[in-house]
Amino acid sequence: MVIWGLISLFLMGSNTVAGQHPCYVVVDPGHGGKDPGAIGKLGTKEKDITLKIALYLRELAEQDDDVEVILTRTKDVYLPLSTRIEIAQAYNPGMFVSLHCNAARSRQLHGVEVYILSPARTNWERAVEARENEALKWELDLPEGDEATILYDLAQIEMLQESKVLAKYVLNNMVDDVQLHDRGIKQANFYVLRVFMPAILVEMEFISNPNREQWLCKSINQKRIATAIYNGIKEFIRNYQ
Ligand SMILES: [Zn+2]
Repeated sequence: MVIWGLISLFLMGSNTVAGQHPCYVVVDPGHGGKDPGAIGKLGTKEKDITLKIALYLRELAEQDDDVEVILTRTKDVYLPLSTRIEIAQAYNPGMFVSLHCNAARSRQLHGVEVYILSPARTNWERAVEARENEALKWELDLPEGDEATILYDLAQIEMLQESKVLAKYVLNNMVDDVQLHDRGIKQANFYVLRVFMPAILVEMEFISNPNREQWLCKSINQKRIATAIYNGIKEFIRNYQ
């Protein structure tokens, strides 16, 4: 944590001095290591799909001077949610995109949902929130207190509008280009989205649907998803910077 604090100070300092830099996009492959995330019927683990798509996203940015993609993890390692937040904040101003696969008891559900940080309104949003925040159970040292939570939430409100716009661009690209079923922009109180910058959590497709699980495992489809998310990010940058 101390190390990330120092890196953060260094980066913020260098940004101010340098003035110009590529747009930082912190891409967060959900789960990892001892935390597999959701597991499909055929045994596919969410943590592996999110990492592969994140690596493709970074590849896309390598050919683009305007965007620098930073991954919170590049291997199958466990990373506490609080560390993911610290990494994101080291690259502020920028944006944060957390990648996940959805899961439901019904094996029929399919489609993409993009979340922003706001109190959950429906049972479904609450269920997804609970499942993704469950990663906290792996963490030994929880920084969360009631007061801290309220402060986090107030600070995040400023970013809400921009996060909504980012969510819309990413969702539209995934629906139009990958032909994923549009389940809409949703909101939930995801711990990992408390990053004080435009931030979204993408539930890319349902790993609990065996057809979609097989689809998710194909690298051609992983690349299509990465490209659609990337195009959404680029649209956001064009319109906001
Ligand atoms: Zn997840």
